[in-house]
Amino acid sequence: FLRPIEKINSVIETYPKGIAGFQRYLNFLDQQPDIVDRPTARPIGRLDGDILYRQVGFRYGSGRSVLDGLNLTIRAGEMAAFVGPSGAGKTTLCSLLPRFYDVTAGAISIGGVDIRDMTLKSLRGNIGIVQQDVFLFAGSIRENIAYGRLDATEAEIREAARRARLEEVIDAMPQGLDTVIGERGVKLSGGQKQRLAIARIFLKNPPILILDEATSALDTETERAIQASLAELSVGRTTLVIAHRLATITRADRIFVVDRGRIVEEGSHAALITREGGLYRRLHQVQVEGMASLLEGTAAVPASQ
Ligand code: ATP
Repeated sequence: FLRPIEKINSVIETYPKGIAGFQRYLNFLDQQPDIVDRPTARPIGRLDGDILYRQVGFRYGSGRSVLDGLNLTIRAGEMAAFVGPSGAGKTTLCSLLPRFYDVTAGAISIGGVDIRDMTLKSLRGNIGIVQQDVFLFAGSIRENIAYGRLDATEAEIREAARRARLEEVIDAMPQGLDTVIGERGVKLSGGQKQRLAIARIFLKNPPILILDEATSALDTETERAIQASLAELSVGRTTLVIAHRLATITRADRIFVVDRGRIVEEGSHAALITREGGLYRRLHQVQVEGMASLLEGTAAVPASQ
């Protein structure tokens, strides 16, 4: 019981600048009492069935409806990309799967079982989440990677680090895996933090993955390393990705276009792009045009810069 409190204390000490993020974490914990196991909830093993959203409705508190009559099926093992205008409900619909919130209408099931009939612990044990904000605590890299799987062996931790393209970073550090990170230790860059989060998930090895793709730019080489490890991470896992990159979207097995809390289009990139007057086609055009104007902007910069 005391160990997590000690960790939280050390986070407070070590990350004064991360206080906004930490506040969000506390808010998140505050919300937890709402989401509890049903008395009849059962622990489930490894989830490898299809994910179904049926007539899902959702609102935050007494606010307006964010999702309304949303239906979708994600087949086991496929990569589903969610695209759509800002505020359409992409993040919300993904956060219902690990039950950060419960649906206010309809139901979500995995392999035919309503997720509310599974214990929270076993449901969340099946899901890995890569978010833009990485939650790290003051401690060694080893502890940060093994977070959530304290029984991991040295070999498993090293393998997870290798697959997350973090091995070279670790080898270059003074105490390798035992290097302490945080304000009193070594400070990790944004890209390194992301890779650490990916290593955690390789170690956890969940069958379901939720990726909230970063919108902020990293340098090209880091970006490539992260994209490569994310591509490897998603192999053989049912993956939901809130997609901002064309490369990810075109690689997805299926694209769901979300607009005002509903799925308005669904299909492959090739199919959606040809749909006259479709929202996906319009969004894609804006993105391609945006890129074209960016490229023109780059061309205008003198070579000396
Ligand atoms: P973006 O692409 O900008 O991230 P999104 O499609 O992921 O957008 P959501 O973040 O799911 O959209 O938001 C859907 C709606 O729900 C928005 O109107 C948003 O303001 C609202 N919303 C999101 N989170 C909360 C919250 N914690 N409390 C209240 N309203 C929220």
